Amino acid sequence: MKKGKKLYEGKAKILYAAPEKGTAIQHFKDHATAFNNQKKTIIEGKGILNNRISEHILSSLNQIGIQTHLIKRINMREQLVKLVEIIPIEFIVRNIATGSLTKRLGIEDGTVFERPLVEFCYKNDELNDPLVAREHIYAFGWSNAMELDWITEQCFRINDFMQGMFKSVGIKLVDFKLEFGRLNQNGKKSIILADEISPDTCRLWDALSDKKLDKDRFRKDLGNILEAYQEVARRLNILHEETNIKTVEFGKLRSIKVRK
Ligand code: UDP
Repeated sequence: MKKGKKLYEGKAKILYAAPEKGTAIQHFKDHATAFNNQKKTIIEGKGILNNRISEHILSSLNQIGIQTHLIKRINMREQLVKLVEIIPIEFIVRNIATGSLTKRLGIEDGTVFERPLVEFCYKNDELNDPLVAREHIYAFGWSNAMELDWITEQCFRINDFMQGMFKSVGIKLVDFKLEFGRLNQNGKKSIILADEISPDTCRLWDALSDKKLDKDRFRKDLGNILEAYQEVARRLNILHEETNIKTVEFGKLRSIKVRK
């Protein structure tokens, strides 16, 4: 598929125009950033794994009736998606306390919540994606009560599904981030899940050992980042055919297996 002009470049992905109106090509890069871009590196092969894992999760969500921007994966690094107007809120869903929440509220790391928690953060790198209240979201016109209620409901549904999916492969879904976008298709307006769901945007702990299988390996310098992402893909049963992609991490040559 022929890529058009670059529409947007973020820290881990690039969005290009696609031939058909209303669609775009989402390209997964190998760049890893943390602490608002203060820490960065390239993890060769990460984009390939995130593309595949995100495709798997979003298409599974599609199958249970959650509308997403994913149309199809095109190649190892790219997906064809519906072009949406992103709502500038990051929806953080938490099942277990860790990360910024423990620091902000003094809650002990690892505390399991009775019910999942949904938080709203204003998507703005310059301001470090600050936590905001519903009132801020209404006051500044980022969304309205009807949209927020509906999206929060979707967050719980997505969490239920993903918790079950990961539990069945021995992984605890600790927390994750979702983004939603507005779609206007043939005059019909809707809100759909957008962006990605991958070990870059989730915290995933091994159910037995609590070993981190996500971007915290990079944030906390735990090493073996690519191996952790591969482990997630392997457990989800999406690491099948050898595609002979050679990747280099920590100077070692590896080959990644993903389904073509
Ligand atoms: N997250 C994300 N992008 C962001 C902020 C958070 O994908 O810009 C994810 C993060 O990977 C984790 C969850 O959202 O799974 C909650 O992150 P938290 O608020 O604890 O942020 P952090 O501790 O990374 O600052």
